[in-house]
Amino acid sequence: MDFDFELNDYNNEKIKCPECGFIFSAESFYCPECGLLVINDYRCINHKNIIAKWMCVVCQTPLCDNCVHFKLGRAFCEVHLDTFIIDGHLPVFKTGSPWVAYLVLGRLKQSGIPCVLFNQHDSSYSINIGDLSFLRIMVPLEFYEKAIQELKNNRKSVV
Ligand SMILES: [Zn+2]
Ligand SMILES: [Zn+2]
Ligand SMILES: [Zn+2]
Repeated sequence: MDFDFELNDYNNEKIKCPECGFIFSAESFYCPECGLLVINDYRCINHKNIIAKWMCVVCQTPLCDNCVHFKLGRAFCEVHLDTFIIDGHLPVFKTGSPWVAYLVLGRLKQSGIPCVLFNQHDSSYSINIGDLSFLRIMVPLEFYEKAIQELKNNRKSVV
C-alpha cells in the first residue's frame, strides 16, 4: 500500500491516510478517521487466514474487505454499524433527566474523559423522531471504550 511519508518530520511523524486523506500520528496503527489499518499484523476476526485491512472505529475489531461495513466513510463491524456518531463523538449514556446527565458528565470529566452533552432538542441534525426527549452524553471515538468501562464501574452509584 502506498502511504505518503513525505509529510514526516522527524519530531512528530505523521501519516496521511491513502484512503481518506486524514493526517494522523505514525504511532497509531490505524486511521482513526476511516479505520484503515496501516500495518498488516492483524487477521480478520471472521477469517483467520485473511489479513485485516480495516479496524472498526468503535471497538477496534480487525476486519477484511468482506466483513467491513461502511457508513459516512468510516469502517464498522456488524455490531457497531448502527452506532450514532456526530462529529467523531459516540454516545455512551442516554437519559431523560438533566440531573442524571450532569452527574454522569461530571464523573466522566473527573476520569479525564472529554465529553459533551448532546441535547436533541437543540440539534438541527435529523435523527430518529421517537427519540427526541433524550439527552445523550457523547465522547470522542478514541475514548469510547474507556468511558464505557468507567460507566460500568460507576453504575451502582450513578443510578
Ligand atoms: Zn483514513
Ligand atoms: Zn465494532
Ligand atoms: Zn473477514
